[in-house]
Amino acid sequence: MMKNIKLLVLLPLFIVHISYTATPWYNRILQECYPITCRLIDIAHFTNTKARIAYYKTCNTETLLRHKKHIEKQLNHYKTALLEKEKEILTTIKQTFNISHTDWNECLSKIEYTKKRNKHAMQLSSKKLSCHTQLPKNITQPLFVILQENGINPHAISLKSSPKKHNHIAHVTWNGNVNSNEYRLPKIVFFPRIHELFDDEITAVCAHEVTHIALQHKVVKECIIECIHKSSHLTRKEITEHHAYKALVHIHEAQAEIIPAATKAEYAHCIKQLRSLHFYAHGNLHENHYRQINSINQLWKLHQWIMEKSN
Ligand SMILES: [Zn+2]
Repeated sequence: MMKNIKLLVLLPLFIVHISYTATPWYNRILQECYPITCRLIDIAHFTNTKARIAYYKTCNTETLLRHKKHIEKQLNHYKTALLEKEKEILTTIKQTFNISHTDWNECLSKIEYTKKRNKHAMQLSSKKLSCHTQLPKNITQPLFVILQENGINPHAISLKSSPKKHNHIAHVTWNGNVNSNEYRLPKIVFFPRIHELFDDEITAVCAHEVTHIALQHKVVKECIIECIHKSSHLTRKEITEHHAYKALVHIHEAQAEIIPAATKAEYAHCIKQLRSLHFYAHGNLHENHYRQINSINQLWKLHQWIMEKSN
């Protein structure tokens, strides 16, 4: 009897513990069982949120507001940590490919200049308008809102609905060479899989793609490829298959999800929904990524709870 009680107490704690810490061996074993792992992570975070709310109920308004500030700090940290990580990865690329200081500084200046020029152009409406009407309203509505929230004029980008069957749901390309002296239109291409998604999931996809455009990941990648090629004479294929370059792609994909989630509660919820059943193989975003998205979503829930109680 005593043994059974112990088991009843220890088993949920063990599940909560492994879901929360998600060690690499655990990830490897349950790679095939991604949706089950996500449910365990859900249980862990749900339990944690309930416990924190029970504690908050004992706090006075002043303490609650202090906790609210701390949550906002944590959310902001998710964003800054990823931007810092990108800088670290770029430094590793410089060292790995033995790029001279002069070439590197030239490359960084080019990235900065191109981003600044594009940012300005993206606020204006383009004359080369693509046909936005071919996309249904349940895509264009959230997409236009997210573009505007990111300071991008919806008519400064190009949208395309592709009939081609593709593993991707959507992706961002730029019309022409992004490194050229002229501004090139960023383009979001939606593939047929987008029509299989629920509205929340569509919003998540839009937030993901708009973040790629807002942070101009393509500009960074193309300038870096050009710089590596100049120093090492490696081919484009050799560069894009190198682990140092792949780390840059990985961090850009993580940014495209974590940054919108940490910026707005709605996006955290939508991205969590999208990733709860399918991991993002292209970006190598598996259980640990889902755990981060789930943590952010729970932080927003706690934030909302405090807001309601302290008003
Ligand atoms: Zn992406």
